[in-house]
Amino acid sequence: MKKKILALIMVLAFAFAMTGCGGSGSGGTLVMATNATFPPYEYVDGEDYAGIDVEVAQAIADELGMELEIQDIDFNSIIPAIESGKADVGIAGMTKTPEREKNVNFSESYATGIQSIIVKEDSDIASPDDLEGVKIGVQESTTGHIYCEDDYGADNVIAYTAGANAIEALKTGKVDAVVIDNQPAKEFVKANEGLKVLDTDYVEEEYAIAIAKDNEELLEKVNGVIKQMKEDGSLQAILDKYIKAE
Ligand code: GLN
Repeated sequence: MKKKILALIMVLAFAFAMTGCGGSGSGGTLVMATNATFPPYEYVDGEDYAGIDVEVAQAIADELGMELEIQDIDFNSIIPAIESGKADVGIAGMTKTPEREKNVNFSESYATGIQSIIVKEDSDIASPDDLEGVKIGVQESTTGHIYCEDDYGADNVIAYTAGANAIEALKTGKVDAVVIDNQPAKEFVKANEGLKVLDTDYVEEEYAIAIAKDNEELLEKVNGVIKQMKEDGSLQAILDKYIKAE
């Protein structure tokens, strides 16, 4: 008898674990798709994932009584993962854009980003106007990629799978500038000698969480948690932990 009960418990536990795996968004596991090469929003710290988005996601999961699971994938695979139900939320310093809103819903904004320009310390490039005709490195499928192609022509833009690869290309002279979000830009410049971030900001944006179009329930829940985190100061506390005031 005891064995039977144990077997039943195991079957139920297994079924519970399975339903939590991507999709349902209620109880069980909250699957977060991200690209952990984007400090201070998401990065690998030793054996763990760390950063603003990871902590925001953990707070949302805690609030919803769910376990957080992180899927670290290419940035341009995040929206497809949400659309196919492989992940519940896309949290990746992702800018809310009308183009992306054709494929996914976005939560309320939880942070702002600015597209910035990184150049070598001795570069003549001093403003977005100077990007005309030079080679620009970007991270593939990001808003920086899209804006630069629109503004300076696809022939002048080289897309890399990760921001760090674009930085490497800048250091070795394959590109003359890198356009990327301002906080990662600062982190990359801190970690690499001889580079600087231009004071001229390029484009301002809102970061939000991507959720499947057919998962209105999760969207409402996530918006509820974001609202609460804004009101109780816990969102600001996370931002302040990773972004030091100048
Ligand atoms: N904010 C930019 C975008 O959404 C870059 C995000 C990223 O590279 N993780 O396209």
